[in-house]
Amino acid sequence: MSGLTLHLDVERWRRHLRSEAAATPGLVPVVKGNGYGFGLRRLAEEAALLGVDALAVGVADEVAEVRDVFPGTVVVLNPWDAANPTAVELAEDPKVLTTVSRLEDLAALADLETRPRVLVEVLTSMRRHGIDPSQLDRVALLLDRVKFEGWSIHLPLDEQGRRAETEGLARAALTAAAGPLWISHLPPADAQDVVAGLAAPGEAPAPLRLRSGTRLWLGDPGSRRTTATVMDVHAVERGQRVGYRQRKAPTSGYVVVVAGGTSQGVGMEAPTSASTLRQRAVALAGGGLEASGRALSPYTVDGRKRWFLEPPHMQSSQLFLPAGVTPPERGDEVPVELRLTTATVDRIVDSAAP
Ligand SMILES: *Cc1c(COP(=O)(O)O)cnc(C)c1O
Repeated sequence: MSGLTLHLDVERWRRHLRSEAAATPGLVPVVKGNGYGFGLRRLAEEAALLGVDALAVGVADEVAEVRDVFPGTVVVLNPWDAANPTAVELAEDPKVLTTVSRLEDLAALADLETRPRVLVEVLTSMRRHGIDPSQLDRVALLLDRVKFEGWSIHLPLDEQGRRAETEGLARAALTAAAGPLWISHLPPADAQDVVAGLAAPGEAPAPLRLRSGTRLWLGDPGSRRTTATVMDVHAVERGQRVGYRQRKAPTSGYVVVVAGGTSQGVGMEAPTSASTLRQRAVALAGGGLEASGRALSPYTVDGRKRWFLEPPHMQSSQLFLPAGVTPPERGDEVPVELRLTTATVDRIVDSAAP
């Protein structure tokens, strides 16, 4: 069957997952969107194998996909919203931990009979979601009417000043109310230093919950490779019109049709465009059809990345191969570089299995 395949050395990948878990105090695996290329359910199963007690999903609607394979708490990262019926229902679900990022939402949740489980998100320099640190005293007044399970701090990826920012926000939060700190994107050692530094003499530091997605699931690139099936190969003559756009082939060569198109996220990752003169010269020498604005494809044939003949189609892509290159055969698998946070593969196979 043709398609995009993720060849995963499952044993090696799991060794990486276990070593990340061991190195990350209070690890909370993040599972959201396309499931980092693996799918939400698969990652929820792996999180269950790791033995962690909490898993984070992005949005309320993702809870249903993981809840029956993950036995612990499911945290919803996107802020609770009274206009989202799923979120409203889940706020009263004992398995679900709701993130709140506006005072009025916290007040609404505090009014429920069920005392929902909540994390309160503090606004960081990302300016995405969260309650402004100046309002945390008003948060504290509402916390005895919910099950308050900690503060959420989501930092920018940028390393500069990240630790100092965490320290300031965590201090403000812990001053308003004691509770665990749920933090993203701070190295474990820094996070541990911060909570240790904030603890009063003789007191235990606040419990740490460190969320991790990309680094956990995709942090060992050597554990995987991705390939695409060659679906067709056509020899073409110089000047012959080819593709949707009916451009002329500049040299004789081959049109290679490979699995993977825009619907699977191929070409959505800003393929390197040949913008410099040197790149254009290289494109011409390599038999690129039109040296201006061509895009190098993520597909490797005969040892090199090849040029797209034209932008990827919905479920396949056409590549141009100049004469002299050994063309692949229909049914061959060729390497394709995919960014797994935007791509969808058709299957995952255990590459280490006999
Ligand atoms: C997505 C997300 C993460 C995980 O981010 P990665 O960069 O994939 O590790 C962590 N925290 C929050 C709040 C998120 O939304």
